[in-house]
Amino acid sequence: MKILVINCGSSSLKYQLFDMKDESVLCKGLVERIAINGSKLTHKVGDKKLVVEEDMKDHTEAIKHVFNALLDEKYGVVKSLDEIGAIGHRVLHGGDTLTKSTIIDDHVKAKVEEFIKFGPLHNPANLMGIRACEKLVPGKKNVAVFDTAFHQTMPAKTYMYAIPYEYYEDYRIRKFGFHGTSHRYVTLRTGQLLGRNDLNIITVHLGNGSSISAIKEGKCFDTSMGLTPLEGLLMGTRSGDIDPTVMNFLMSEKGYTPEEVNQIFNKKSGVLGVSGLSSDFRDLEEAADNGNERARLALDMFITRVRKYIGGYMAELGHVDVISFAGGIGENSATIRKAVLENMEEYGIVIDDSRNDTREESVISADNSRIKVLVVPTNEELMIARDTLELTK
Ligand code: ADP
Repeated sequence: MKILVINCGSSSLKYQLFDMKDESVLCKGLVERIAINGSKLTHKVGDKKLVVEEDMKDHTEAIKHVFNALLDEKYGVVKSLDEIGAIGHRVLHGGDTLTKSTIIDDHVKAKVEEFIKFGPLHNPANLMGIRACEKLVPGKKNVAVFDTAFHQTMPAKTYMYAIPYEYYEDYRIRKFGFHGTSHRYVTLRTGQLLGRNDLNIITVHLGNGSSISAIKEGKCFDTSMGLTPLEGLLMGTRSGDIDPTVMNFLMSEKGYTPEEVNQIFNKKSGVLGVSGLSSDFRDLEEAADNGNERARLALDMFITRVRKYIGGYMAELGHVDVISFAGGIGENSATIRKAVLENMEEYGIVIDDSRNDTREESVISADNSRIKVLVVPTNEELMIARDTLELTK
């Protein structure tokens, strides 16, 4: 069966078509600037590339262009859309009612809509993608795979916030966690590589957005992101953990509205805010090497925060078998990985520098490291395709 995976953002969408016979990727692509002048679709089949530059006024038009690309005479990969067995959608927030991947029906859509209150940027876009597919290929099964689902095994002692209990009862204010599909993939893959599915793992996803999870016997026990993706590690543009009073202070001192402070802490903070330079770690590493002190500070703060969480999760789990790195930074930056784990010999962690010089799936700890350290390139799209196949075959 062929499965199309769609990940809709507010003005962009990514897609991949899988042949589930061997889980190969038949094509992948990206649509940028949806509903903004200068929309662009880039469709890749192996080394071949089709680019379509034409204004697309909404997600329905964008997905129509995706289907045209899939059917294209020269760059297409299917003769008819009937060849696509089902469509898997990445959905950000499933709250605590949509706790696993599910076939989409009216009830699921209503719940995704309800959780717009916690995922105001992503859930509306995810819904637009779902509705567009329903309209363009009626009758085709659509499956939702939630970023929050994997974290639903957290116990109350790690997901509750220490605020009056009625806010949890009335509004469901609690930690949900995100990047769940990535943490799930890394957990499964780490288990496969080491031949066990009951491992205690710290999964470290470092990318544009970063999060870290404590996995107890293969299940999520704690994670760094919260009600929304803002909590936890420093990120490209998000502050991560902060005393909430800072927001109150800025609101009364500068007259910001709740939306404005939200924007500042989500879009203008993190390593971008501290360095004043970039949210991209390649730029920051280069600037820091050339003596830029604020770039160095931003990197040091980022690294220190990751170390603090690793230490905390080691204490929470009691015993850790593996630490696995994923995400654009976790997979590509040997420097950051080394800085995150250096001087931890006392805790049983020893990195082998030559093994660490890699971007491939591999073990990077030394043979005498009690805790194994792995690089596990994540594959959220494949997880979505597998769930979609499982639910619809
Ligand atoms: P997303 O969270 O959007 O999926 P990725 O996981 O692809 O993002 O991570 C993107 C980030 O990875 C970039 O912003 C960049 O900072 C970082 N990155 C990619 N390659 C490298 C590298 N070689 N060294 C350091 N950072 C890198």
